[in-house]
Amino acid sequence: MPPIVKGLTPALRQTRNVLVAGYLGFVGLGLVSDTQPRIFWTMLLPLLPVGVVLMGFHVWRNICPLAFLGQLGRRLNRGRQRRVPPWLESYFFPATFGILLVLLVLRLVATNGDRLWLSGLLVALALAAFVTNAIFTGKTWCNFVCPVGFVERVYAEPRSLRSTGNSQCDPCTACKRHCPDIDQENAYWKDVTGSGRRLAIYAFPGLVLAFYTYYWLRHGDWEAYFDGRWTRRPVDAALVVGEGFFFAPQVPAVLAATLTLVAFSVASYGLFRLLEVGIRGVVGNGERSRHLGLALAAFTAFNLFYVFAGAPSLRQLPGGTRAAAFVAPLVGTLFLRRRWQRTPEHFIGERGATRLLRSWPFEEPPPRDPSEVYGWIRASRHAREKDHHSEPDLERTDVLHEMLVVRLKRGKRLEEGTRVDHRPHPERDEADTADDRDGAGHPGSQGR
Ligand code: SF4
Repeated sequence: MPPIVKGLTPALRQTRNVLVAGYLGFVGLGLVSDTQPRIFWTMLLPLLPVGVVLMGFHVWRNICPLAFLGQLGRRLNRGRQRRVPPWLESYFFPATFGILLVLLVLRLVATNGDRLWLSGLLVALALAAFVTNAIFTGKTWCNFVCPVGFVERVYAEPRSLRSTGNSQCDPCTACKRHCPDIDQENAYWKDVTGSGRRLAIYAFPGLVLAFYTYYWLRHGDWEAYFDGRWTRRPVDAALVVGEGFFFAPQVPAVLAATLTLVAFSVASYGLFRLLEVGIRGVVGNGERSRHLGLALAAFTAFNLFYVFAGAPSLRQLPGGTRAAAFVAPLVGTLFLRRRWQRTPEHFIGERGATRLLRSWPFEEPPPRDPSEVYGWIRASRHAREKDHHSEPDLERTDVLHEMLVVRLKRGKRLEEGTRVDHRPHPERDEADTADDRDGAGHPGSQGR
């Protein structure tokens, strides 16, 4: 029986079905209309990063049409448990970054303005997702191969603007250590200092800038991008191997585009490494400085993207570019702020408080926000003392307060290894509740 994704409400299922139909319809549109590349690259694609940030990571994971088409491959999988090799488990961030870079080069020399090539690309991606998940277990496509998955994680980790539950499979087949579908933020803190993550995310702003700058490097004119002529350019030899740079026309375009994307990515990686060193000099903590460096890289990439993405079509709308110039930095600043303040200790503490809310032991109604639980218990202790509550009642409050403090200290565990929890969810939830009651927690807990 293939795994089934959890948490799919009827509304989400309908939305996903519409998106899948749209994806397939778009393939068909490429067979009949020259407007297809313009609609895709300048109207639909620009909605993706801001959409993921606003709707939340798990919502997108549940409605992504490519993920759905990949999940059809699971039906051929017949419960096989084949996992990706260990090197890919360790370096999936650079691997997906590399796939994205190749696709961007392909875009510059083929799929940008040729409707048949674009339709072919969409079909190829759907087939790749299908075959990957037919061969490997779980959501191997989403977790280890998909370039969109890479972009999702850059912009939405450790948490996007909207908190969401999970998008995990039921049953989980443990395709991924520290699975973001089970617990996105836990997966982030487990791996925040990983060198693969740093390499790819620090290089990403450079990749974004390089892609758009290449139009100028090739034609010597920014209008070559902003007037959108590239959305009506069918593939031919001149586009692929013609003059690659306006100042060095002898370099073939495909090579020039590759060199540009690689060079900007390397420079970007170097710059953000330096920035991280500077931040570490101020905050004095390797994990914290890495977290802030990753947040700044994501923020930079997001804003660079929206300087360009969609501009050829927004220009046609009165006030369109001005609206984008206001909304994109606003959204970027909001998600940067949300990340900036976040620490693993906040995460662990909030998680402990959330569990306590599930089995709230007091007569008074609990605070709505888990982050207010600590303050509530402290204040409650004080109030009970004043009201001369019984000693056992006061002790109970003390025990709960102590338990939450212990949870905060256990934030250190995020640096240790973990295991995927395969227990069915009700059983897991019950154990977690018991864990909260005794304040101990089970070893190897993912800090949920
Ligand atoms: S680890 Fe489990 S829940 Fe996560 S994607 Fe893989 S199979 Fe699904």
